[in-house]
Amino acid sequence: MSQNFALFGNPVSHSKSPYLHQNFAQQFDLAIDYRKLLSTPENFKADVRDFFSTGGDGCNVTVPFKEDAFALCDILSPMAARARAVNTLYLNAEKKLCGHNTDGIGLVNDLLNNHKTDIANRHVLIIGAGGATRGILGPVIAHNPASVTVANRTYAKAQQLAAEFADLFQVHTCSTSTIDTPDKPDIIINATSASLSAELPVTDALLITDCTVCYDLAYANEPTAFMQWASSHGCAKSLDGKGMLIEQAAAAFTTWTKLTPTTAPLILEFASA
Ligand code: NDP
Repeated sequence: MSQNFALFGNPVSHSKSPYLHQNFAQQFDLAIDYRKLLSTPENFKADVRDFFSTGGDGCNVTVPFKEDAFALCDILSPMAARARAVNTLYLNAEKKLCGHNTDGIGLVNDLLNNHKTDIANRHVLIIGAGGATRGILGPVIAHNPASVTVANRTYAKAQQLAAEFADLFQVHTCSTSTIDTPDKPDIIINATSASLSAELPVTDALLITDCTVCYDLAYANEPTAFMQWASSHGCAKSLDGKGMLIEQAAAAFTTWTKLTPTTAPLILEFASA
């Protein structure tokens, strides 16, 4: 019998998640159905309840519902609790709604495994303080960086995030208009949505002096504005978020099925697409 998975979002039609999960399922000869389900802020709660009460086994949640999904859960993984955002939902044996956040695992696995980029002892600058940064901060901190700075256009949001993680790590903060890091960043992560409108969240090329990796969480068919900016100022590795997308999906698949799919063929396929 086929297992039923889905992605809730708005918009959702562009998503590659069904393709990724079908690939994972085929690796184990598992029959799955993975649907894209458009929801609305008014209906999201009822839509999720309906999905699980009609045989749903697990669902992913994307923009703009990750915080709504967090609020719905009976049980949260430590990562989801810390992020206050959920992208993976399932029912446990007692039919309690459980929430997990695999975005940070996705980023870290992509950096470490696919791009052989260590986070340990590196100075990391994360630009942006929205939902994605909430998801990646905990996993980045867990890999023992030398420092982490969160820079945001709206400075108060960076401060708020740093306060929420203060018991784990001293996260430095600054505004994107005056970037101030403890040392020159080795890794710069663009976790803003600026690339979606072909904008740059920062323009100070001096930031890149010692930087070996610039990573844009956004992705498109062509290199994003941030990736082009990084490459043009000499950054050795300028990466987009396709690998993170694949790795976060793999971690969600494992959460539901307890099976660990191979991601390498998809990473290769998406890199050359
Ligand atoms: P949010 O809407 O929660 O946050 C957006 C962030 O971007 C805020 O910090 C905002 O600053 C900042 N921002 C937006 N426009 C600009 C700009 N022109 N200049 C500077 N800063 C700007 O979005 P998310 O955090 O959910 O997503 C961020 C990005 O990450 C998106 O591109 C998304 O597609 C990508 N993503 C990729 C994933 C993957 O698997 N590859 C997974 C999750 C997200 P302010 O607070 O001042 O408004």
